[in-house]
Amino acid sequence: MNKIEVNQLTKVFGSHPQQGLKLLKDGKQKEQILEETGMTVGVSQSSFSVKPGEIFVIMGLSGSGKSTLIRLVNRLIEPTDGEVFIDGEDITKMDKKTLTETRRQKLGMVFQKFGLLPHRNVLQNVAYGLELQGISKQEREERAKQTLQDVGLKGYEDSLPSQLSGGMQQRVGLARALTNDPDILLMDEAFSALDPIIRTEMQDELLKLQNKLGKTVLFITHDLDEALKLGDRIAIMKDGRIVQVGTAEEILENPANDYVTKFVKDVD
Ligand code: ADP
Ligand code: MG
Repeated sequence: MNKIEVNQLTKVFGSHPQQGLKLLKDGKQKEQILEETGMTVGVSQSSFSVKPGEIFVIMGLSGSGKSTLIRLVNRLIEPTDGEVFIDGEDITKMDKKTLTETRRQKLGMVFQKFGLLPHRNVLQNVAYGLELQGISKQEREERAKQTLQDVGLKGYEDSLPSQLSGGMQQRVGLARALTNDPDILLMDEAFSALDPIIRTEMQDELLKLQNKLGKTVLFITHDLDEALKLGDRIAIMKDGRIVQVGTAEEILENPANDYVTKFVKDVD
């Protein structure tokens, strides 16, 4: 069974999303819909699946719909149409309680802007989610310490986020996402705010971690080199649509259309 299965997922932002959906089904493009109705198509009729243990990258320019897509996958926003299965269960149909539980057990999210609590130390930041679940202080701290060790931050438990470099802050972000030992990591431009050298370091760290912990990763980036380096498979997005899915090799050797060709032509 696939870890994530996305089926004809669509998100239209605006006053009459169902009308936008109908226009999409009639074959209208995002640009036309915006012009005619003022509604924005975030994601349009997109389908893909992520297999257990793979790093699946979604790559596309700014505004192509990547963040909307990943937010639909953990249902931070509601779809206009389509389905999202996590381990075979459609999360778009779940009641709130089951959704919260599924998110907690199965999904860990890492954000571009780290999202750390500034007045709490590293250990407290990582343990925060466990605190909300009512787990005892002792267990929280044990688990948080272990996760910090996993991401190479042993010894930094008492530091405040502001005392750490960007790369180390993002390690805390990663540790926080891992505290519940979720099967799936959702990462939205998680390394995009980092300096190039640190960024490369974090990419290597993720590959190492994924190898060790065997997580399934849905990774979003606007950087083709990052996509090619990390992705077991890569989906390329344009104007809310997925235009090609394939391995790095498949995409480089057999670009599906002119858009992808243009995108990959500078890679050697
Ligand atoms: P990306 O992450 O690839 O940069 P986004 O998913 O953020 O792209 O955005 C895709 C499209 O949806 C953009 O045109 C954006 O302006 C629009 N969009 C995203 N969020 C909202 C929102 N809350 N309200 C209206 N339009 C939105
Ligand atoms: Mg984005």
